[in-house]
Amino acid sequence: MAPEPAGNETQALSNLLKENRRFAPPAELAAAANVTSAAYAEAAADRLAFWEQAADRLTWTKRWDTTLEWNPPFAKWFVGGELNVAYNCVDRHVEAGRGDKVAYHWEGEPEGDSRTLTYADLQREVNKATNALLELGVRKGDRVAVYMPMIPELPIAMLACARIGAIHSVVFGGFSATALKSRIDDADAKLVITADGGYRRGKPSALKPTVDEAVAECPQVEHVLVVRRTGQDVAAGDKDVWWHDVVDRQSDQHTAESHDAEDPLYILYTSGTTGRPKGILHTTGGYLTQTAYTHDAVFDLKPDTDIYWCTADIGWVTGHSYIVYGPLANGATSVIYEGTPDTPHRGRFWEIVQKYQVTLLYTAPTAIRTFMKWGDDIPAKYDMSSLRVLGSVGEPINPEAYVWYREHIGGDRCPVVDTWWQTETGAIMISPLPGVTAAKPGAAMRPLPGISADVVDDQGNSVPNGGGGFLVVREPWPSMLRTIWGDDQRYIDTYWSRFEGMYFPGDGAKKDDDGDLWLLGRVDDVMLVSGHNISTTEVESALVSHPKVAEAAVVGATDPVTGQAIVSFVILRGSAEESDDIAAELRNHVAKTLGPIAKPRQILVVPELPKTRSGKIMRRLLRDVAENRSIGDVTTLADSTVMNLISEKLPSAKSED
Ligand code: ATP
Ligand code: MG
Repeated sequence: MAPEPAGNETQALSNLLKENRRFAPPAELAAAANVTSAAYAEAAADRLAFWEQAADRLTWTKRWDTTLEWNPPFAKWFVGGELNVAYNCVDRHVEAGRGDKVAYHWEGEPEGDSRTLTYADLQREVNKATNALLELGVRKGDRVAVYMPMIPELPIAMLACARIGAIHSVVFGGFSATALKSRIDDADAKLVITADGGYRRGKPSALKPTVDEAVAECPQVEHVLVVRRTGQDVAAGDKDVWWHDVVDRQSDQHTAESHDAEDPLYILYTSGTTGRPKGILHTTGGYLTQTAYTHDAVFDLKPDTDIYWCTADIGWVTGHSYIVYGPLANGATSVIYEGTPDTPHRGRFWEIVQKYQVTLLYTAPTAIRTFMKWGDDIPAKYDMSSLRVLGSVGEPINPEAYVWYREHIGGDRCPVVDTWWQTETGAIMISPLPGVTAAKPGAAMRPLPGISADVVDDQGNSVPNGGGGFLVVREPWPSMLRTIWGDDQRYIDTYWSRFEGMYFPGDGAKKDDDGDLWLLGRVDDVMLVSGHNISTTEVESALVSHPKVAEAAVVGATDPVTGQAIVSFVILRGSAEESDDIAAELRNHVAKTLGPIAKPRQILVVPELPKTRSGKIMRRLLRDVAENRSIGDVTTLADSTVMNLISEKLPSAKSED
């Protein structure tokens, strides 16, 4: 067959995957849902009035004058309004008589190591930490870098910053000294808050030496505030102060000041899946409004009875918005877990669900695929009948992983909400509503009420149902990033230059015949095969739908005949054996599922895939392998040895055509 000409850049993204399964909301949940379908119409009729109503969930010390001031691409929400984020997350619940309610059930990795913090406890701890930061010279507008394990002092430190109006920059505790130093420098932080270490994979894992190395080259850092968690030896530098020395002796009283709705709350660097991380700046009023609203709507949160657990690390935006700010603003009870899912055994997550009677669970596709790989028998050992809503975030969820999650974790009764958003959006943007949407496995479905997301073609025209293209957001939203810290130009170039007057998140998407949205991965990852734009997500999902495949990553590699050819990297399920004909079997499976155009040229069985520390697959490194280039920047990679394991597999690559 003669190949079609390659290079037809304007062709829309192919729509290959057909999915007919639907899961209607459970009747009982629908009948009592926090948000009904009426919300879509209300928000469409008057978007700003809708967000004003959402902002009224918060306690404002001064009401705003103007809901939105939009000087594209710079937005200000709730202009003139004043509030204190920490007060909204903590004090107001205590004042309302809910001081005894649990804010956090904290579960350390070593079994039996747990702590419970009520809202009253949290108030005392945040106030003491606030007074300590003030004593250390931290003032409104100062930047504070936070490099900590998943211990209660982490949200306490963030809330203390928020209370003062200091800007926190949480850096994930797995990052190297170089990565930490560059983030401290970029934000020009004067204080670093850290710990001696945390528990990971059954042993203490040191953090302080990394901070020492970074801070040695950061003269602007005045103090390093250190929590004792593991009791590991730490070198005492002259900037170091122990948390227990300085925080414990403080008064537990502090009166919160009001801050402007547009005062900065935090800087957070993106995961770095596509390249150099960006320092995303979020402010207070709009951010807290949308995180609180979406946490209530998307999880159908009933604060009096639900036990909510988000398994993300607080070092990522998911942890900021859905462990700290959204749940606390709503007065929820949450679980925080310090460690890894396989310590001391592979049932640890389900043991935690059983122990705390978790009702709402929020995790990532990468974790779900790992649990699939480990086998159905593990979750089957635990009582998880308390669960009622399951969430997914971080990557497109493959339909097979979605169905597995629903069945083996959710007992076939819990709706799964696939939530699309980014560090930049601050809060969930596209997601089913558990009491409203008949969800399709693998689809994020509809923009939430008040969010105007769309899919457009190369020219910025809305694509019809059945078409694919670029995801965009047409109107500003309350929790949107305000800029990239210190780099307005990069903000404009990255997000607002691709399409006139529209926010471009960098992701591809399609509308199915019903107009529901499916995320198709990053547009940089789209493959151009014989003139067809094929999304990595669809081919990966086809591979994962084969019973022998646990995980898959595909990339397009330059090919003399087809322009690009599909190269697939797969991890087999626990029970499946690597055999000679597995590659042929999988290639045929993809051809049958998606059509011959999507048939991979090569299938490589690998033991691991390169992932960022937030668990996302880094396809650009696989592209380097597939095109025999030297491997690019690996600084945000979780495990740098993975690339060697994968490269070793290359000579055995099978190409059957
Ligand atoms: P960088 O921007 O530095 O490359 P990153 O994009 O990985 O890093 P995050 O902000 O943590 O950093 O990730 C957001 C991205 O994750 C989204 O743009 C999208 O590609 C992907 N994503 C998140 N949730 C979903 C989802 N439910 N479905 C599909 N993709 C998702
Ligand atoms: Mg991104």
